[in-house]
Amino acid sequence: MRYQSTRDASLKLTSAEAIARGLSIDGGLFVPESFPKLTEDMITSLVSKPYKDRAARILELFLDDFSAEALDQYAGEAYSQPGYDHPAIAPLYKLDAETAFLELWHGPTSAFKDMALQIMPRLLTASLRKTNESREACILVATSGDTGKAALEGFCDVPGTRIMVFYPQDGVSDVQKLQMTSQSGSNVNVVAVNGNFDDAQTGVKAIFSDESLRTELDEKGFFLSSANSINWGRLVPQIAYYVSAYCDLLADGTIKYGDEINFCVPTGNFGNILAGYYAKKMGLPIKKLICASNRNDVLTDFISTGVYDKNRPFFTTSSPSMDILVSSNLERLLFELAEKDGAFVSACMSGLTQNGRYEVPENVIAEIADKFAGGRCSEDDTDKTIKELFGKYKYLIDTHTAVAYKVLGDYRTETGDKTPAVVVSTASPFKFCDSVLQALGQSVTSGGVELIGALENLTGCPAPAPLSALHDKSPRFLDTVPVDGMKQAVREFLK
Ligand SMILES: *Cc1c(COP(=O)(O)O)cnc(C)c1O
Repeated sequence: MRYQSTRDASLKLTSAEAIARGLSIDGGLFVPESFPKLTEDMITSLVSKPYKDRAARILELFLDDFSAEALDQYAGEAYSQPGYDHPAIAPLYKLDAETAFLELWHGPTSAFKDMALQIMPRLLTASLRKTNESREACILVATSGDTGKAALEGFCDVPGTRIMVFYPQDGVSDVQKLQMTSQSGSNVNVVAVNGNFDDAQTGVKAIFSDESLRTELDEKGFFLSSANSINWGRLVPQIAYYVSAYCDLLADGTIKYGDEINFCVPTGNFGNILAGYYAKKMGLPIKKLICASNRNDVLTDFISTGVYDKNRPFFTTSSPSMDILVSSNLERLLFELAEKDGAFVSACMSGLTQNGRYEVPENVIAEIADKFAGGRCSEDDTDKTIKELFGKYKYLIDTHTAVAYKVLGDYRTETGDKTPAVVVSTASPFKFCDSVLQALGQSVTSGGVELIGALENLTGCPAPAPLSALHDKSPRFLDTVPVDGMKQAVREFLK
């Protein structure tokens, strides 16, 4: 299987090259030339298998320059206890006859980012070996909270790599901040940026495109790489949990093979839901992918009108991992829906850069409407949803998952669609204690890690052990830099 850029079909790469490079030189994203088909035999054979085997078999379909043995080994290391606190790794929680939650936060950092970032460093280092890269990879990450910690945990002490995370000084929860600043490992660094997430992201992009810095680092034996979801190595492991959820619904008799299900996904950068779209394209019986947004509802508008317009106010919400105006992975969806027309994708993306907007034609709008639905959820409704679900079912969810559950309810009311649905649950509620406590009617005066115990006491739900352990941790990394000091911080880290 070969990979090409979303903006230029003439470039053909192996999977290892696509993972090693991350981003195409034309600015496009790497996509597979074609999608392997999931057969009934293949899916039903996975029903009795543990998560690591399900994941390895999906990876094998896409990464054909990796041996099955190697993929089994990586998946075995990445998806195992005690790193995960649940034997099913990605368990389904059945709420009622037609609703389940796919809990993707049982990994070491309590957010769904672990599902990809526990295995991606193994794929990346193997890809670097396969492409004869002798330099050391320096992974640069700009994070709004969850990616940073998951990437630190994934790359911690991985030979041949260094990792540096930039987070917005006041843009992450206290739990997220301490998770990152207390990170262990000899190849890691964490720096606060005096700005918001967009500033940190812009700063990282500027470092990537700085040719003189690239030359300077090259002479020292380093090159820069990314762990963001633009890398194919982060996307492909995510396809596995859509298949896994289907297998679990087959196993418990909710559906029989061939029955369609819906997924509702709390969406930011469009990486998670895109993996669901790929699973559907491969033949997994998915009817609709429901894209849930918070107040930052640029995707809701895009799905209903075909106009993507980021010229709008940016809101800071209680679901910060979805506070995003430019969803990078949408480019990959456009590419598929526009029948692999690289020139069309390039034109959309330059429209976005120059005017902050682009518009897709009728046939693409129709394709989107056929496969996707979209909805938004206000801050108030996020709180109400957490409270209602806990009151009625004693089931505690985080703010991001609440956005999705609310949007699913609205979708059902509007359409009457009774298809069984899976809500993709992306974070432990204990990562966002202050917001969740407030939603449950508590007044919260601080945002510190002591709230973890308060939320446990109030709900009787146990916090994930690594979050409880934060009580005894103190920060290792205290530096804050201005946006224009980020480059110097990288130089010092790699000196
Ligand atoms: C990253 C994240 C999201 C958004 O996922 P995308 O792949 O960026 O769409 C949603 N919820 C949580 C908790 C996250 O960490």
